[in-house]
Amino acid sequence: MKVQPILRLKNISKAFGSFQAVKDINLEIFEGEFFTIVGPSGSGKSTLIRLLVGMDDLTSGEIYLRGNRIDRTPANLRPTCMVFQSLALFPHMSVGQNIEFPLKLKKMAPNDRKQKSLELLDLLRLPKSFYEKRISQCSGGEKQRVALARALAFDPEILFFDEPLSALDYRLRKTLEKELKNLHLRTGKTFVYITHSLEEAMVMSDRIAIMRGGEFEQISVSDDIYERPVSRFVAEFMGEVNLFEVSGTKKLGLKSENPNFHINCDPSKAKLGLADGIGGVLVVRPECLRFLTNSESADFVLTGKLKAEYALGSRTQYEIETASQNIITVEKLREDRFMGKEGSKVTLGFDAESAHIIEEL
Ligand code: ATP
Repeated sequence: MKVQPILRLKNISKAFGSFQAVKDINLEIFEGEFFTIVGPSGSGKSTLIRLLVGMDDLTSGEIYLRGNRIDRTPANLRPTCMVFQSLALFPHMSVGQNIEFPLKLKKMAPNDRKQKSLELLDLLRLPKSFYEKRISQCSGGEKQRVALARALAFDPEILFFDEPLSALDYRLRKTLEKELKNLHLRTGKTFVYITHSLEEAMVMSDRIAIMRGGEFEQISVSDDIYERPVSRFVAEFMGEVNLFEVSGTKKLGLKSENPNFHINCDPSKAKLGLADGIGGVLVVRPECLRFLTNSESADFVLTGKLKAEYALGSRTQYEIETASQNIITVEKLREDRFMGKEGSKVTLGFDAESAHIIEEL
């Protein structure tokens, strides 16, 4: 049986004057999914989410919630809810009054409201005593949890999040990322989240959409986007990466103009080959490169000089400069540290299974 999408966007666009901020997007989001839209500043993430919750009108296109068209339904009548970075809590009210606000709108009886509010405090792992606490007395992380509890009190079909963690410090953000993922599992709700932080997207999401210039460049699960990016833009956006310029040969192989880059395998068998005359880049993540001793080889081998070494805590990062002055980044776990002197000659290798090819027309 085909899973039905809870939300379907059909050719949606948004223009501000002659500027197209969202360009003809088609997308299906499924029931219970944690779907994250990630992209650089100005790529159109906020504009898109504002369209989805009804805070802004579409220029063209249609939005369907469980098959019913909702793009002409005002935001307050849609069964969806948004959690903002600013949280939009009522500062003069208590935590309990904030959480109960949507329940009051639904005309729920006071005792039932309190009961529901206490249940939500428990779900968000806040003590019952917080019910009476004023918002101004809560820490950043506690306010964030209250905002989530209030959003859940609306009992929305879909919860939308607009960079809710970006104002928080690193440690709190890391904790709340995991809590949000956990909350998603416990509630079974559909979460649609936007962020410019790739790490945040990778920790929490079932699927990630990479947005660029008002369009989606790639939509997939995080491993796929990390290991098999469809473009140089996605590869670079998804963290540290090494890109080697190559071109195709007659037998669907690869060649490189770089005399220090050796191809010791048959790229056509490794599904890395390109057609004759077609250019592309081989994508290799820093953790997939290894330092080779004289007796070792690999499917792809290159040489350079150790330029710098950086301790990253559990890992160490190395910068290797090639003869053509390209910088190659290698990362090793701390216990597998490479013991080399800065300026010394090194040979690096990687195997076909840890590489990915992007064809560039
Ligand atoms: P950020 O991560 O910085 O919030 P974003 O990906 O959310 O960026 P948007 O805020 O959606 O990007 O903006 C996308 C583009 O649309 C930007 O170039 C922005 O200047 C433009 N834009 C957004 N809102 C308006 C508006 N009301 N009028 C004119 N242009 C706008």
